Amino acid sequence: MKKMWIIIGVILLCLLGVSLFFFFNYEKKDSIEDKLKQNGYSNAEVTLILNMVSNNDYDLVLNLGYDKSLISILSSSDYQESLFENYIEYYVKNKDENINDIITIVNSGYDLMDYPASSLLASLVKEKYYINNNVARYLDYGNSHNVDSKKVISMVNSKADLGFYSNIYDSDLNVGNLVLVNKFYHLKEDYTPNDLVTLSGQYNRGANNKMRKEAADALMKMVDAAGLENITIYNVSAFRSYDYQVNLYNGYIKRDGQVAADKYSARPGYSEHQTGLCADLNNVSDSFDGSDEAIWLKNNAYKYGFILRFPKGKEDITGYKYESWHYRYVGIEAAKVIYEDDITLEEYYAYYIEKAPS
Ligand SMILES: [Zn+2]
Repeated sequence: MKKMWIIIGVILLCLLGVSLFFFFNYEKKDSIEDKLKQNGYSNAEVTLILNMVSNNDYDLVLNLGYDKSLISILSSSDYQESLFENYIEYYVKNKDENINDIITIVNSGYDLMDYPASSLLASLVKEKYYINNNVARYLDYGNSHNVDSKKVISMVNSKADLGFYSNIYDSDLNVGNLVLVNKFYHLKEDYTPNDLVTLSGQYNRGANNKMRKEAADALMKMVDAAGLENITIYNVSAFRSYDYQVNLYNGYIKRDGQVAADKYSARPGYSEHQTGLCADLNNVSDSFDGSDEAIWLKNNAYKYGFILRFPKGKEDITGYKYESWHYRYVGIEAAKVIYEDDITLEEYYAYYIEKAPS
């Protein structure tokens, strides 16, 4: 008899436990809905919140009180539930900014919590060549110049925003054909490539007729291909030594003054001609532009690993006026990207060579 009462007692306790379990769980869910409604959310908004936000983040939602922007975030087709906490953290810091910009910036995956949301930042992060380490300079440049975000990225990645000849680095010779020599990166006085070969015959009509082996081979291949289309291409000036550039540059200064000389001639050590990887072709003159040869080169050089190094419209990025005759060997892979994306070697280098691993 006593045993039966114990069994009944145990059963009753179990039933009580189970009902308490369901009761409290129901209560919890019920109370979130109630609290959201108390905060002023409509039934539809409550349903949206419960559907789009994971249980762990309900407290974050409740802390906001009634917030119409929360509903905008959750209604966006770009909303990702896994980023909910990031949206809220960033939104709380940027309450007056455009919600779509906030979503775009958070979705980019870059750590930008400490940068104010803005339409400029939102358009920057969508650019292919965006580099997060440069963000402060992008914003500085973009906020002080009336240009689009693509141009901002170009100017900053190329370092042109810093001012030419302002920050000076040694060119990194370990990157082979991609070595960068410009108004920031320079070669030492004694640098001469150790694999120069001589261009001769139909390939050359100039006194500076040496190029590094791989570049010379590519140039000859390109000249041959052009010849098949009745286009005659030849070198007029390829490798030039440091000392040669000293004389050339000083001569230009004497003739035109340094400001003018800097626009079309490189200072010694800063000339790409010292790399042995470039060549002035056919006619070093503005009149070369528009000729059949110049047009052929513009459209075909990349197939042989050459790029038009100082393009029209990119003077403020490269630091040089348009030179329709100056072609630089970078290898076919890089040349194709530079040609297709319409970027300069500066921009290619910043993104594909120099960018810190992210
Ligand atoms: Zn040149």
